[in-house]
Amino acid sequence: MSPVTDTGWNEEWAVGCLPPKVDLHLHTTASDGKLSPTELVEQIATTGLRTVAICDHDTIDGLDEAYEAVAKYPDLDLIAGVELSTTLGESEVHMVGLFIDHKDPHLLDTLTEFRGRREKAIWRSVKKLNELGLMIKFERVREIAGGAIGRPHIADALIEAGYIKTRDEAFEKYLGDDGLARTRRSPTTTKEGIDLIHASGGVAVAAHPQTVSGFFDIAEKMAEEGLDGVEVFAEKYSAQDRKKYLDVARQYNLVPVGGSDYHAKGTPDEILPGGVDRPGPASSVIEELQSRRPAR
Ligand code: AMP
Ligand code: ZN
Ligand code: FE
Ligand code: FE
Repeated sequence: MSPVTDTGWNEEWAVGCLPPKVDLHLHTTASDGKLSPTELVEQIATTGLRTVAICDHDTIDGLDEAYEAVAKYPDLDLIAGVELSTTLGESEVHMVGLFIDHKDPHLLDTLTEFRGRREKAIWRSVKKLNELGLMIKFERVREIAGGAIGRPHIADALIEAGYIKTRDEAFEKYLGDDGLARTRRSPTTTKEGIDLIHASGGVAVAAHPQTVSGFFDIAEKMAEEGLDGVEVFAEKYSAQDRKKYLDVARQYNLVPVGGSDYHAKGTPDEILPGGVDRPGPASSVIEELQSRRPAR
């Protein structure tokens, strides 16, 4: 056992695990991932990962199929997750919920509402693109999405129509923050996101903090709102990057977690789940997250 300090911090958490055994951020075709839940589980089963979480955008629809697929692999644990898009002031924070009850009726109703907001925003983006002369149809974007619709599905429709080559290009030109066809959904606050996750028995984690503008200024506020963890092992963070987020985690008593945020985009630079070139969270964070689940 590694030393647990009197603040409850376990040094193992800071070091993480290489090759990774834990990946707490994966996507499927239920939102904007390219692999079905079964395909994703089959791929994960070929890696050294032992505990994974599927966290699709505003939907839990991939989870039942994923649980069925994972039943074949007794050494692989699946955590039910979700990823919510939230805001705090001007900052956009992707809030990952882990250990949620994916049968909770209030959670399901709220996610349905969030997906409705997605539909509206995507519809408006497509309209803007049409005005710019990029003639894709909303119905086609909807069809490509299948499940929870998002900007990557617009990107896929633009690729299909031959306007661009990659999802990244779509974000650079049209869909990113300064993009010509960017639209905004009605916001859910970080507090509302954290409360929703807690109400369904889960713990709330701030995802890929390097994408959050002003993260270091809002971390304390989110901790006060009940945030449980922060992704320290995310994107292509260097040891130096991780140190900054580890310091925040220590300071505000957040569990340092993370994952690959795998979408199976198929691009050469994509981080693969279970990839051996960067560490994942320590296995012991799982128990800590469990212990932080709210009583219901
Ligand atoms: P949305 O769900 O509509 O807010 O779209 C956000 C999702 O788009 C993110 O979660 C990523 O999966 C994806 N995304 C964001 N930025 C980019 C980018 N620059 N290139 C490709 N995909 C991106
Ligand atoms: Zn995504
Ligand atoms: Fe995200
Ligand atoms: Fe994600």
